[in-house]
Amino acid sequence: MDTAARFAVFSPRVLGKILGAAAVATIGLSISRPATQERGGSPADVSYEESFLPPNDIRIPERGAGPHAQEAGGLSREQYDEVLDRIQAVYGPIIAARGGVLDIDRKWEDPQFNAFAFPRRGTNVYKVQFPGGLPRHPSVTQDGFTAVACHELGHHLGGAPAGPSGLSNEGESDYFANLKCLRRVFSDGAAAGFTKADDDEVAVEGCARSFRDAGERILCIRAVTAGRSLARALQVASNLPVEPRFDTPDPAVVAQTNNAHPKPQCRLDTYFQASVCTQPVSIDLGAVDPAVGACTRSQGFSAGLRPRCWYKPPAGEGELVAGAVRETLLAPQTMAALTNPGLWDGL
Ligand SMILES: [Zn+2]
Repeated sequence: MDTAARFAVFSPRVLGKILGAAAVATIGLSISRPATQERGGSPADVSYEESFLPPNDIRIPERGAGPHAQEAGGLSREQYDEVLDRIQAVYGPIIAARGGVLDIDRKWEDPQFNAFAFPRRGTNVYKVQFPGGLPRHPSVTQDGFTAVACHELGHHLGGAPAGPSGLSNEGESDYFANLKCLRRVFSDGAAAGFTKADDDEVAVEGCARSFRDAGERILCIRAVTAGRSLARALQVASNLPVEPRFDTPDPAVVAQTNNAHPKPQCRLDTYFQASVCTQPVSIDLGAVDPAVGACTRSQGFSAGLRPRCWYKPPAGEGELVAGAVRETLLAPQTMAALTNPGLWDGL
């Protein structure tokens, strides 16, 4: 048993929340089981796996009793397969062009409330894995599950900053999901019929400020709304009293980049900012330089920057561009909640 090799992505405080959530849900508290035994891979493959959520003991079985058993809503097996079929169709060729093989491990019967990406370890296999527990949660739409899948791809394709596993870190995987992956997948006609939440009002405002082109604006709104549909799942996993929202951004400013899972509010902020970044989808995020393919102040962008609640820009990237105007992304009526001056340091 090599639990020490498992990538620890939660602080003691977060661990406390997870344990609290588990206690409320009257489900098991054992969270230290080795990853290798439930995921079906060899030990060498699965140490340092990355995930969508911090480790948790929430389980949503396909059928059955209990507080998290599948309720009305959530995805059917067919809807789950539709999403992963699109991911394969869109990203299989992209990864092949990099000399890699996309390996999507479908584990619909697995009740785990999470999703995973595995380090390549010198191979060309870009492996991601999707248990059925998370897509079975009633709040998760097909668009939302696409965002989960894009997050896992982001660990492989999101570039810098990377975490200790060598894969893109958590915040960066979220940034990649909304900036690149969701736009590609939602542009595919076969994804037009995915289930989705109603357009988020803040998304409509923010996307209108970034995109004049109607098609780009619609893609932006859809990507932001996909992120919003995960808010409830993020809340459940962290046992938060309130659901995070786009108009209550995290005012935290980190002294150094946080590679672990940011707080749910911070993650929503990343979904939003990545969606309003106007860098083209065709420019990949830089493997070494986090400015490449991204929106940074050093390149003159005032919107779409990685939020400072998890990201510390390297020297030079965070410099204010001469004459740059600090633009807001939100309508005046939402500004009342955003008066903390430190807030805008993250934009
Ligand atoms: Zn992750």
